Amino acid sequence: MASIAVIGSGFSGLSAACFLAKEGFDVTVLEKNESAGGRARKFSSHGFTFDMGPSWYWMPEVFEKFFRHFGKSPSDYYSLTRLDPSYRIVYSKDDYLDIPAGGENLCAVFDRLEPGSGTQLKRFLEEGKYKYDIGINQLVHKPGLSLGELLDFNLVKGAFQLHVFQSISAYIRKFFTHPKLIQLLEFPVLFLGATPENTPALYSLMNYADMSLGTWYPMGGMHKVIEAMVQLATELGVKFEFNSLVNALKMNSKNAKGVVVNGTFRSFDYIVASADYHHVEQHLLPASHRQYSEKYWSNRVMAPSSLIFYLGINKKIEGLLHHTLFFDQDFKQHANEIYENPQWPSAPQFYISCTSKTDPTVAPEGCENIFILIPVAPGLDDREETREKYFDSVLQRLENLVGQSIREHIIFKRSYAHRDFIHDYNAFKGNAYGLANTLWQTANLKPSIVNNKVQNLFYTGQLTVPGPGVPPSIISGEVVATELIKRHHH
Ligand SMILES: Cc1cc2nc3c(=O)[nH]c(=O)nc-3n(C[C@H](O)[C@H](O)[C@H](O)COP(=O)(O)OP(=O)(O)OC[C@H]3O[C@@H](n4cnc5c(N)ncnc54)[C@H](O)[C@@H]3O)c2cc1C
Repeated sequence: MASIAVIGSGFSGLSAACFLAKEGFDVTVLEKNESAGGRARKFSSHGFTFDMGPSWYWMPEVFEKFFRHFGKSPSDYYSLTRLDPSYRIVYSKDDYLDIPAGGENLCAVFDRLEPGSGTQLKRFLEEGKYKYDIGINQLVHKPGLSLGELLDFNLVKGAFQLHVFQSISAYIRKFFTHPKLIQLLEFPVLFLGATPENTPALYSLMNYADMSLGTWYPMGGMHKVIEAMVQLATELGVKFEFNSLVNALKMNSKNAKGVVVNGTFRSFDYIVASADYHHVEQHLLPASHRQYSEKYWSNRVMAPSSLIFYLGINKKIEGLLHHTLFFDQDFKQHANEIYENPQWPSAPQFYISCTSKTDPTVAPEGCENIFILIPVAPGLDDREETREKYFDSVLQRLENLVGQSIREHIIFKRSYAHRDFIHDYNAFKGNAYGLANTLWQTANLKPSIVNNKVQNLFYTGQLTVPGPGVPPSIISGEVVATELIKRHHH
């Protein structure tokens, strides 16, 4: 039984570990932090339990398929609730839009803003479904190792319908003109880490995921999914070692001999690195065995970082849903300060997850669990006073927009940004969610899952195929495990 070290216990590492253990490998997950989940860890304080990263459970089918590979279902581990409305968008005080969970109600919202746009939406989502079916069921499962893979599945034939070469920004404007509808349809692209102008229209599959497949919530929090995957992995025989920092990969000429963990060498037959790709290549591998230079990395378009505030509030807050997006400021300006001219934003849009609206277990009775997220450029100088400045201004805007006092009801507060992403996850430039899905960083153009100089080293996670987000990270683990297994048997 060949032994495999999986570096990191985020979604991608856990997924890879499960597939490899099922194949009969002796799998050990080495995780630097004291608990599993990576960017999707949780923490508890003052009776509140916070999901630290992801909060949108989209594409439930990807989770179902994952568990089905092992004869299981998500419902064996956690229960899902479909949110309706899916989310709220706040434009200004007393001007907001609740997005119903699909169907005719959603079309009616569109028609009210722009007559006839409900019918347009149906056509838009049908095209999104086509892209989702090809994209999520086929394209994302390609390891991105040869162009033949893409020809192989008829991409060329479908390229026009997949809209790979036009931007989602232009594409949405062919269907809709009302600025609120355009903004609503461009929002899911934020998950992909680039502006709508730089994101291929292929990703209108995200609108289909949002509006047709729905926004779900695992009761207990997103971390329930991590707990489920750890339990499954353990059932499959995976061993977990926490507080285990991998310091280096040790090489023979074309092979890795093993890893140094907390200063001690450990021998393994294969290594699957699910920690941030840049960290593994530039800090764990000797220079002779890297495939990408520091210049290559500095030319990549990273997804944004985030300034996050986790707040415990000792009262209920009206005017928030489980997910509320605050689009009361100009997105163009904010996007420019994230992507084109990276700097701390002058007047950022922000997002609040308030899980206590759905889940009584995440906050003491009568209290509210609030997660405020401001997308910001990676690589910024992250200081305490900067965080506080944004905290003050965002809180003031929030109080004004929902018309209630909040500040004096805060009984717990924690902030999180670049410094924490780097400290906790070795994140390149403090990125929150990896490498952006621009056209030039799609599929085969992403950093490779294999290292041509080290035969037994593989990479997975949100900096390689298929990209950032929980469902892609889970698929990434499967893709890399499949490739490793294939190579092992040849
Ligand atoms: C704030 C935030 C909000 C998000 N919101 C959403 C959302 O709503 N929906 C969604 O689908 N996605 C969302 N995402 C994206 C999603 O969370 C990620 O794409 C996904 O969790 C990444 O998983 P991963 O396995 O690639 O990486 P990670 O979760 O980062 O896992 C890598 C692991 O490697 C470990 N590691 C690093 N270096 C070492 C070392 N030297 N030795 C040992 N271990 C090491 C790290 O500690 C970490 O546990 C969000 C992300 C963030 C940060």
